[in-house]
Formats: sequence, C-alpha cells, structure tokens
Amino acid sequence: MTKREILEYLSGVRDEDLFSEARRVQKAASGDKVFLRGIVEFSNNCARNCAYCGLRRDNTGLERYDMTVSEIMGAVRPVYEDGIRTVVLQSGDNSSYTRKKICEIIENIKKQYKNIAVTLSLGERPLDDYKAFRDAGADRYLLRIETTNPRLYKKLHPGQSLKRRMDILKDLRKIKYQVGTGNIVGLPHQSIEDLAEDILFFKKFQPDMIGLGPFIAQKDALLKNEPGGAFYPTLRVLALARIVTKNAFLPITTALVTIAAEKQKHVALNSGADVIMPDYTPRKYSKNYKIYDNKSDITLPKAINIVKTAKRVLSLERADSLKNPPKQTGTIRY
Ligand code: SAM
Repeated sequence: MTKREILEYLSGVRDEDLFSEARRVQKAASGDKVFLRGIVEFSNNCARNCAYCGLRRDNTGLERYDMTVSEIMGAVRPVYEDGIRTVVLQSGDNSSYTRKKICEIIENIKKQYKNIAVTLSLGERPLDDYKAFRDAGADRYLLRIETTNPRLYKKLHPGQSLKRRMDILKDLRKIKYQVGTGNIVGLPHQSIEDLAEDILFFKKFQPDMIGLGPFIAQKDALLKNEPGGAFYPTLRVLALARIVTKNAFLPITTALVTIAAEKQKHVALNSGADVIMPDYTPRKYSKNYKIYDNKSDITLPKAINIVKTAKRVLSLERADSLKNPPKQTGTIRY
C-alpha cells in the first residue's frame, strides 16, 4: 500500500472498505480466534516525563506503588489458572527493578507455570538487561514508538530520542525477542501525514505485534487540557496497521476500549484486531496505574463478552509470533 492510499484511507472516505478489508486480512492470518494476554501492571513509578502520561516522574499527585516479587507471582497465578498462556508484565521505566530482580521474576514464572509466554513492557533499559531477561526466559518485548515524527517525539518525551527507541527495537529483534511496537493516535500537533508515516514504519519493520490506541488526557499530565484521539481515526490506523503487517498480533487496547461506546467495542475487534488483554493487576494497585483518565477495567468476563458479541472465538493458546516463530527460550547464544 502506498503512502497516497494510506492518506486516502486515513481521511475516512472509504471506511467500510477499509474495515472489511482489514478483517479479511486478519481472518487469513488468525481466523476467528481472539487471543487473550493477561496483563499485570506491577509498578507505576517512572523515571520519564512523557507529556501525555499520568505516570510521569514530576506528577506528585499520584500514589506510587511497586509490587513485590511475591505480589507479582500472586497476580500471575490467576492468569494461569484462567487458562491464559501469555502474561504481560508492564511498568513505568523503573530501574529499582534491577536486572537481577526482573530475571528472578521471569525465572519464577517460567519455573512455576509450564508453557507460559512472558511479554515484558518495561520501557528503555541497557542492552545487557534485555539480553539477561531473554536468557532468563522472556519471550516478547513491547516498546511503542509512540510517534515516528522526530520533532513531535522530542517535544513529548523530554530527554529521550526517537533514534534510541528505534535502535532498541532493532536490538530486541537481533536478540530474538518477538517484538511489539505501536503508536498513539490523536496526539496534539500530530498530523494525518505523521500517522501515515507511522503506518509505513509498521510496514517496513514488520513487528510481531502492534499495540496502538488513542491519546486520552490525564488530569495530572502536561497535556491535561488537550482533546483526546477519537474512535474512528484510531480504528483507521488499526485497520491499516493490520493490512500492512498482515499477520502481526493486534489487540484492541485498553485505551481503545475506554473510548469506544458499548456498541463499538466488538466493531473495533472486527476491524482487524485479534487480541484482548484482560487486566490482572490487583485492584488496590490498578486504581493508581493512571496513565490516562477513566481507564476501562478489562476483566476476563468483559473480554469474553466482547468476543461473543463480535461472533468470534476465544483462544487460550500462547500464540507465538506468526512471523518469526520462536526458537526455544532459556539460555540464548548471541
Ligand atoms: N514505561 C513503558 C514504556 O515506556 O514503554 C511502559 C509503560 S507506558 C505507561 C505504556 C504505554 O502507555 C505507552 O507506550 C503509551 O503509549 C501509553 N500511554 C501513556 N499515557 C497515555 C495517554 N495519556 N493516552 C494514551 N496512551 C498513553
């Protein structure tokens, strides 16, 4: 698909064609299945100051938490007991979880739960950390590019650079992670042209999975007064991401579910998505994982309900990459 075609679809003039084509491409990759990934958001402490995010370092209005190793293990148990075979561990960029501690968590999970895939989403770390996590058994890593516009990226992420983010994604691939990335749709000063470039980046990089969602304001974030991304523009990006990557795993993210009207949640699923991520963070902590306001609480029953309404089939498989089927995890040689 050319940039011109992408821009035309993003303008919204051919939504019906776009969404049905995205579902057709998705169906060729994963059929009617919707895969579940249980997410545990284990710490809201963050060293970064992203302008859109409520977890940003300088937000003093947030009650912070760090779950202990045993609390994290306790949160993973119901993921496994519910039959889900992927757990996603996410946190702010928090170096108090040392290399050793993260390895310990991964090893404990792998030891205790047979055939579970571990996805990490811990932000930017030194390469040796990523290698050690992979050696400890981590299977996948999720690091959104957020936006491919370098100027916008710099403005929103003080002290960070788009180049570093891109380099990390390449490194993660080199050391044999299944790599996920994604963007935010509807950021202030983001143009349709920027979104087209994001989609072209997905086309070129061919991530194993893509998590994307709308920007939603958060009352303690720097962008607290900015309007959020809307449902259909986000859905267009999701559908195009599907079409250009064909068989990447693509969730309806919590942010997308949050802004979707009740009747739109299954529409989102049937516009190119094949993953839902129910939240297994203990309630006493999840209420403080305030990346944006009014965050939807995706429980397992709610996820099942969306799948049923979409007339799709729930899958509890661990569902490894359809692009780069993994080699055995454990000790990795580079
Ligand atoms: N620290 C890790 C990182 O940077 O990858 C993971 C945690 S971070 C909170 C997870 C994602 O939340 C980010 O990649 C960003 O896209 C998303 N996010 C944060 N604030 C948001 C907002 N206000 N609206 C939409 N998405 C947001």
